[in-house]
Amino acid sequence: MSRAAKVIRPELQAMHAYPVADATGLVKLDLMESPYGLPPELAAEIGRIVAGLSLNRYPVPTAQRLRALIREVMQVPAGCDVLLGNGSDECIQYVTATIAREGAVVMAPVPSFAMFSMHAFFFRVRFCGVPLRDDFSLDSRAFLDAMAREQPSLVWIAYPNNPTGNAFAQADIERIVRAAPGLVVIDEAYQPFAGATFMPRLAQFENMVVMRTVSKIGMAGLRLGYVCGRPEWIEAFNKARSPFNINVVTEAVAIKLLENKSVLDAQAARVLAERERMRPELERLPGLTVYPSVANFFLVRVAGPQGAGTRVFESLKSQGVLVKDFSAGHPQLQECLRLTVGTPEENRILLNAMREALQ
Ligand code: PMP
Repeated sequence: MSRAAKVIRPELQAMHAYPVADATGLVKLDLMESPYGLPPELAAEIGRIVAGLSLNRYPVPTAQRLRALIREVMQVPAGCDVLLGNGSDECIQYVTATIAREGAVVMAPVPSFAMFSMHAFFFRVRFCGVPLRDDFSLDSRAFLDAMAREQPSLVWIAYPNNPTGNAFAQADIERIVRAAPGLVVIDEAYQPFAGATFMPRLAQFENMVVMRTVSKIGMAGLRLGYVCGRPEWIEAFNKARSPFNINVVTEAVAIKLLENKSVLDAQAARVLAERERMRPELERLPGLTVYPSVANFFLVRVAGPQGAGTRVFESLKSQGVLVKDFSAGHPQLQECLRLTVGTPEENRILLNAMREALQ
């Protein structure tokens, strides 16, 4: 046995790294990125800003300016603080680290975002997934029962949910927050496309925090996510944070882009309009079930025997379109593909390729 095989956690050896497909040369509709780049003047200004940075210096670890700007632009309620992460992926790591006591349980509806259970695994806390109904709505009775039984320290609710695209009923989420024995994180990664938010409710619920990301509104490459909540939570998460986790380029560029948020908002509005235009077009395709979405993507299910979803995925890829295949994942997602909404031209290509793939 090699030394590596001897010391690496056996359950980690059995795992695969988070899969990200090579999108070279393909229409990239797999990861819910914004399809739009920056206007040239803004891009040039960012170039000048980056050129002026002191790359030889560590970042200011508190990232005061960026945090203050997020508070203002994202309307974080007074009295709440902000934790920054290298993507909200990293925020999930910090939050999980904070509650990872012996015997702690993390709970979330399933299927949902994979990182909730992955970080539970990394920190050796038990993950308890509560199945969504077949239409992907939240079974709040089952969730409340599971909470009463398992007493989770941490509950994740993605609002809207990934990969299903729907937003659970607000009243159900409220019930969960009230009944939870520990912390509930509302993950609002797709909030810009859904409108609804729990952000103003932070003042009301002492055991709730709201997590967001700028990845879906045009800054996925920067890697910036954040958690907003009462100082008692944020101070604790901050203790688990790598001191210089937000690099100077991310901080400076994010400040510039958030100061010009109207540009990003206009891009998000175009994506939203495209989503509404796409929906009936997708619904018209025979052999495809389209699930309701308030996010910047659609979950669809291909009719047919096992393997039908992957066959369509491969056909789309051979026609130059990359989407995400969930066929081999959670049992409730068999034959399901997730389609990110792109530009009108990309969506036209997707629809044509899908028509061909479903023949
Ligand atoms: N939460 C949800 C629900 C997501 O779907 C994603 C990304 N797919 C993330 C968090 C992480 O996003 P990021 O790390 O880019 O901020």
